[in-house]
Amino acid sequence: MPSSNILVVEDEDAIREMLKMVLEQAGFSPITAADAEEAQQILAETMPDLILLDWMLPGASGVEWARRLKKEPQYRELPIILLTARGEEEDKVRGLEIGADDYMTKPFSPKELIARIRAVLRRSGKINDLGQITQGDLVLDTEQHRLSIGDKQLEVSPTEFRLMQFFMTHPDKVFNRSQLLDQVWGRSVYIEERTVDVHIRRLRKILSEHGREDLVQTVRGFGYRFSVVESAGAPL
Ligand code: CA
Repeated sequence: MPSSNILVVEDEDAIREMLKMVLEQAGFSPITAADAEEAQQILAETMPDLILLDWMLPGASGVEWARRLKKEPQYRELPIILLTARGEEEDKVRGLEIGADDYMTKPFSPKELIARIRAVLRRSGKINDLGQITQGDLVLDTEQHRLSIGDKQLEVSPTEFRLMQFFMTHPDKVFNRSQLLDQVWGRSVYIEERTVDVHIRRLRKILSEHGREDLVQTVRGFGYRFSVVESAGAPL
């Protein structure tokens, strides 16, 4: 079972605890927050695979927070399932309009919730049922912590593994060094930006042993991009 991180944002203690338990039993790793502010702090430290978000929260409502989040490039692809006590069709439409991936009306059965989470994770292309992320012939196994090209295994360090996991779940997008530090190393750690370059160089060297150094591209003056699509031929 892939241990996807699920951020649960719910202000009612009893429901939050219930969701945490249900998710743990299904093999997920839940992280909980009681409001949008707390959830935002968690996002500064870690990138979840999915957010389970209560519509009615004290302070910024779940919907308002989701709308803000979906405007930020690094969170645009982060799947969100909205939870609501109200079942009106209008709410559902509004929820999906702001970019939520699914919508559930309370009360719901734990079984249905888990099924919806799995469906959204699969659709988001992040991870398959075996806990693997695939890009072209590159496979990253989050369960066994293995990275391979075809049947060849690549020897990468834990940091390079995390870097590849981030790249493979965010293909074709350019990230600068500071963004990569935030996403891969975490904002709480102080590391010099050139550390990113060192790891990228190592990663390219490993990929080049398989003739695939083109997977991690330099975007001059900005940062790096992972892409399995062949570049237009311009030297990068
Ligand atoms: Ca609530």
